[in-house]
Amino acid sequence: MPNTTQPLSKTQPSSKSAEVKLSRRWQWATRGRAISYLMEQAVENPNAISLAAGLVDPSTLPVEETRKILADLLGDPERGRRALQYGTTPGSERLRRQVAQLLQRLEERSNAAVEIDPSRLILTTGSQQLLSLVGEVLLDPDDICLVAAPTYFVFLGVIHGLGARAVPIPADENGMQIDLLKQELERIEAAGELSKVKLIYAVSYFENPSGISLSVERRRELVRLAERWSREQKIFVLEDAAYRELCYDGPDRPSIWSFDPTHETVILAQTFSKSFSPGLRCGYGLLPKPLVRPISDRKGNEDFGSSNFVQHLLATVLENGQYEPHVEQVRASYRVKRDRMLAAAEKYFADLPGVSWVRPQGGLYVWMTLPEQIETGLDSPFFDRAVKVDGVMYVPGELCYAGTPTQRRRNQMRLSFGVESPDQIEEGMRRLANAVRAVL
Ligand code: PMP
Repeated sequence: MPNTTQPLSKTQPSSKSAEVKLSRRWQWATRGRAISYLMEQAVENPNAISLAAGLVDPSTLPVEETRKILADLLGDPERGRRALQYGTTPGSERLRRQVAQLLQRLEERSNAAVEIDPSRLILTTGSQQLLSLVGEVLLDPDDICLVAAPTYFVFLGVIHGLGARAVPIPADENGMQIDLLKQELERIEAAGELSKVKLIYAVSYFENPSGISLSVERRRELVRLAERWSREQKIFVLEDAAYRELCYDGPDRPSIWSFDPTHETVILAQTFSKSFSPGLRCGYGLLPKPLVRPISDRKGNEDFGSSNFVQHLLATVLENGQYEPHVEQVRASYRVKRDRMLAAAEKYFADLPGVSWVRPQGGLYVWMTLPEQIETGLDSPFFDRAVKVDGVMYVPGELCYAGTPTQRRRNQMRLSFGVESPDQIEEGMRRLANAVRAVL
C-alpha cells in the first residue's frame, strides 16, 4: 500500500527539540491509512464513480421525518432542555426500551421468541464504538480474535490497533466454516495459546465485504463451539449485525444471539446507521451480564454517554411507529440498486473468463473475484488504471483478509451499490469491465 501519512519520526523535533513519543497503540493503528488513501483518490479523481464508498443512499435519508420531530422536540422547552442536557453512560432508558422491543420484533420475524432485558443494552456512537469497546475490554496485546476470511476490514484495524492478533477462518457460501474454526482452535491449543483466545467475530447478515450470511445451522454450532472451548477463560462471540435490516429477499434468519441459551456468550452489535441515518451515529449492543459493567466503565472514560439529543430523537421515531415503514422504503430502494448492479455484472462481465461474483440477498455489497493473475490492491496496475483511466473505484479485496500475506487473496473487489444512483452503478460496472478487459 502506498504510504499516505507522513511518518512521524521518533526523533522528529518539537519546538523545544524534544522527542515526540507516540504510544505503541498509535504505531499499531495503521489500517486506517488504507481508508485515507481511498478517500484521497476519490478527491483527486472527482469524475471517478465510487463503487468503493460504504455510504448509505442519500435519497433514503429521513430529512422530513427528522425535521418534524426536531421541531416538536425543541418546540417544547421542557423536553428540549432534557434533550440538550447530559445523559447517562449506557444511554437513554426510553430508547433502550424501544430498542429492546425492536430486537424482539426482529427475532419474532424468524420465529425466535425472546425476552430482551433493556438493562443489558448499551447505546453507543455508531456500532463502531461498541466494536471498539468490546476489543478494549477483552483484548490485551498478543491476544487472539478469530475472524472470517474475508471480513469487515475496519474491525481488523481495531484488533491490530490493540496489539492483538486477528486469525482468519476461511468462509464459503454459508459464511465462516465452523469445522475449520474447530481445527484452528485445536492448533492454537496444541501451540499452548488457548488462553489467548478471547473472541470470535462474526458479521452474521450480508457480510461486509462478501454479502454472505452465516447459515442458521452454523449460527447454532458457533455458539456451541464457543461454549465448549471456553475452558481456560470465556470465549465470547461478537455478532456484528450491522446489515440485519437491509434484507431484500431470502429467509429472515434468527440472530446468533438467539441460539445462546443463557445469553452469556454472544454480544450482539447493531446500528441505526444503515436503516435510518449514519449521521446520527447511534448504535447499540446487547451484552452478556458480566460485560455490562466493564463496557460501561470503559465508555465512561471515553465520553460518559453518546449524544443524548440523538437518543431523544430516535426514541420518538420508534415510539411514533415511523421507524419500520422507513426501513421498508430503504429496503425497496436498495433492492432496485442491488438488482441493477447484478444485471450490469451479467451484462458486462459474463463473457470475461475467470470472473465470478456473489449475489447478495441483502446488505450493500457485491463481492467479485477476478482471474488469479489480476491483482486488485491499492498499489496494483489494475487499481491505478481503473481509477485514473476508466474512472471507477472499488475496495481492494485483500484489505478484508487477516493473517499473513499468503493467507490473503489478491484478486477480489468489494463493489458497493450504496451511494451511487442506479444509472451510475451501471456506468461504473461498464467502466470496471473495461479495466478488466484491458489487463486480461
Ligand atoms: N459493522 C460493519 C460490518 C460495518 O460495515 C459498519 C459500517 N460500515 C459498522 C459495523 C459500523 O457502522 P456504524 O458505526 O455506523 O454503526
